[in-house]
Amino acid sequence: MAAPWTIRTAYEALAGNKISSRELTEEYLARIKKYDQRIGAFLETYTESALAEADAADQRRKEGMAAELTGIPFAIKDLIMIAGRRCTAGSQALADYRAAYDATVISKLKEAGAVFLGKTSLDEFAMGSSNENTRMSQPKNPWDTMRVPGGSSGGSAAAVAADECVAALGTDTGGSVRQPASFCGVVGLKPTYGSVSRHGVIAMTSSLDQVGPLTKSVYDAALVFNATCGRDSHDSSIAKGVQHIDLAQLEKPIKGMKIGLPEEYFVEGMDAAVKDLIDAGIKKLEELGAEIIHVSLPLTKYALAVYQITATSEVSSNLARYDGMRYGLSVEAEQLLEVYQKSRALGFGSEVKRRIMLGTFALSAGYHDRYYVQAQKLRTMIRQEYADIFKHVDCLVSPTSPSTAFLHGEKFADPLMMYLSDIYTVPANIASICAISVPAGLANGLPAGIQFMAPAFAETRLCHLAHQYEQATDWHTLQPKLG
Ligand code: GLN
Repeated sequence: MAAPWTIRTAYEALAGNKISSRELTEEYLARIKKYDQRIGAFLETYTESALAEADAADQRRKEGMAAELTGIPFAIKDLIMIAGRRCTAGSQALADYRAAYDATVISKLKEAGAVFLGKTSLDEFAMGSSNENTRMSQPKNPWDTMRVPGGSSGGSAAAVAADECVAALGTDTGGSVRQPASFCGVVGLKPTYGSVSRHGVIAMTSSLDQVGPLTKSVYDAALVFNATCGRDSHDSSIAKGVQHIDLAQLEKPIKGMKIGLPEEYFVEGMDAAVKDLIDAGIKKLEELGAEIIHVSLPLTKYALAVYQITATSEVSSNLARYDGMRYGLSVEAEQLLEVYQKSRALGFGSEVKRRIMLGTFALSAGYHDRYYVQAQKLRTMIRQEYADIFKHVDCLVSPTSPSTAFLHGEKFADPLMMYLSDIYTVPANIASICAISVPAGLANGLPAGIQFMAPAFAETRLCHLAHQYEQATDWHTLQPKLG
């Protein structure tokens, strides 16, 4: 057995002494060296500490203390803090920032014995759908380097797709794990809001952000979720209802499962080749004995507007701290106000500034009730609509994104077009439910994902369906040709 390793195959090989964690880590460091100049997924790699972690993992295994993730090489979106390491959020404002402590997800992975290969590129402060909004390295899609990997967790998705790591962490506020997973042909899980700690994760939109895995299989995503979810004394948003995924359940047939097909997710403007893949996916689910039920979620059409207002409003408040005095790049000036102005003008890129301005407007006196409050009311209604539909169906199915990966530069000048690529992913964040993107095949040679959604804290049900679909198809085994 050799690369590409999944967590599961690597774990079995490690457990059977067929490979050591040091060998596995060396293999991945060599692959990064070989391919990442072309792909640009990593902002920084940690050769020395990764090998030391690998040795510690081998030792732990010898002592009979190994868990599934012990010795598994991970890549981490550069928005998640690893103590002592640079954490840039893809921004000039934090270009020199070194994390003072580990994010809780990192300490949980450390407890499990994971190996950290390095940090991956992202859109600045996770704002974007192409990973072009960064002044650091812009990653390329391993399937076609003329194309974007998606965003904002583009580096993590590209690293998994190019097999430069076994698994990666990203964050998903409006689709940033699932959309790049779809574009790069890998699995991306957005856990239910309140499942995974955000302590030590640089905030974009605190009422929506979730940390989620990018992996080569649904089973792997479930393993990472299980290792990272749950209680954290540093994050009071963790809910009591968080449940570990019951891995044994994933292997059961889905015969009789009721799957809703929301008409609002199959609208004009969707790539015909993507639609064909989703249609084929739905057929596959029927063959597996699932019952497909046509449903309607009429409020879905407001989800993107609600997202835009909520996300920009919270961005304007969350990013106020990068003023050159408290946090972030600091430009010297005579007057305090000038320090603020110059530091922020230089520190932030244009998409971040655009969102800060929109959000400040939406929250300002006289407009607050008209925009922000209105958006929150609608959000509650959308959440209720999804909760109600799950009284009739077990899960929902849809495309992950209306298109496959677009060309670098194709949508960059048109933010509205860019925002539309989140149209199918945003509702799950607004409704605070869980969702996953799984490879559904190639459309004109490029990968596209099928999205499954399940009620809040029903990750077991979600991964059960996703795993059964994945195992009934070969799409997850396709690899980009890297030469
Ligand atoms: N692409 C979306 C945006 O630009 C989602 C970002 C995210 O999930 N972090 O806002």
